[in-house]
Amino acid sequence: MKVTDHIKKAKGEPLFSFEIIPPIKGKNIQELYDNIDPLMEFKPPFIDVTTSREEYVYIDRDGLLDKKLTRMRPGSLGICAAIKHKYDVDAIPHVLCGGFTKEETEYLLVDCHYLGIDNIMALRGDAMREEKYFEPTKGGHHYASDLVKQIQELNKGNYLHEVIETDNCANFCVGVAGYPEKHMEAPSLNSDLKRLKEKIDLGADYVVTQMFFDNKKFFEFVEAARDMGIDVPIIPGIKPIAVKRHLQLLPQVFRVDIPEDLVDAVEKCKSNKEVRQVGIEWCIQQSKELKDAGVPVLHYYSMGKSDNIKAIAEAVF
Ligand code: FAD
Repeated sequence: MKVTDHIKKAKGEPLFSFEIIPPIKGKNIQELYDNIDPLMEFKPPFIDVTTSREEYVYIDRDGLLDKKLTRMRPGSLGICAAIKHKYDVDAIPHVLCGGFTKEETEYLLVDCHYLGIDNIMALRGDAMREEKYFEPTKGGHHYASDLVKQIQELNKGNYLHEVIETDNCANFCVGVAGYPEKHMEAPSLNSDLKRLKEKIDLGADYVVTQMFFDNKKFFEFVEAARDMGIDVPIIPGIKPIAVKRHLQLLPQVFRVDIPEDLVDAVEKCKSNKEVRQVGIEWCIQQSKELKDAGVPVLHYYSMGKSDNIKAIAEAVF
């Protein structure tokens, strides 16, 4: 079922959902299930599965280093299929521009259609680790808006190189990313919002936001988006701080601010166990306020570990 239909069906009752990361290549999928299982009692109507960019690895061959391109966490679509099969919930693959030609994207979308996947999260993808800025893959898309366009064309039977008249068209519901504190490359929040509006005008059906730790930023973002005519559901994505290092890492990687009170509370902690607890409590307060404000869904970045998300969901749902 489409995310937008889940939201309509809930009739204003906020839903619980979360995002998972595929395991590192060679690891067992059981660890993933062990972290999903405890969250199923909160009845997520959908679970997002991230896709990682490819990266370079250097293989030592008799003293000479061989540079190879690889994906450390492959298997996003396989995990979506496994989740659908095991839990009977909608699984949403993150489909990226980076690392894929348009043709490869088309084949991926065809696979999604055959698997009965109804939703696609359409993203540009991060720059590769070695790149300073995002470089589009040869034959691939530059911006998420181009990807949204491809998906919507496919929904009409317009494949890249042929128009196929069929009564079995895909009918994907498309999610896109939004940034309450603006995307790191955008010159201003307003210009970033205009880009978001372009994605919606091209047919994106809902927005999931980057993590934020100050709800005021989310509320202002939603207001500015509505003023600009963005009228699709905007789903807040939130994450509990879990280790002290997050104080530097999260602003560095995601360009988000951490409120002073939260920084102080984390800095006072004597262990990461205490930090985890502070993160849970902050996230519970954030979630309760967002829920009271009537957000359609509370979407949690689980980063593969679910004990803290479970503690939050127990207090909020
Ligand atoms: P876009 O919408 O293409 O925007 C990228 C930048 O380009 C923005 O600054 C925008 O303002 C600007 N822009 C857009 N269109 C134009 C244009 N026509 N001309 C000039 N500038 C333009 N990354 C992953 O690698 N894997 C994941 O699974 C993943 N999941 C994510 C899930 C969520 C909910 C979010 C919020 C992010 C996720 N990301 C993921 C990170 C995302 O890929 C990065 O933030 C990426 O840098 C931007 O992606 P986007 O889809 O927002 O890009």
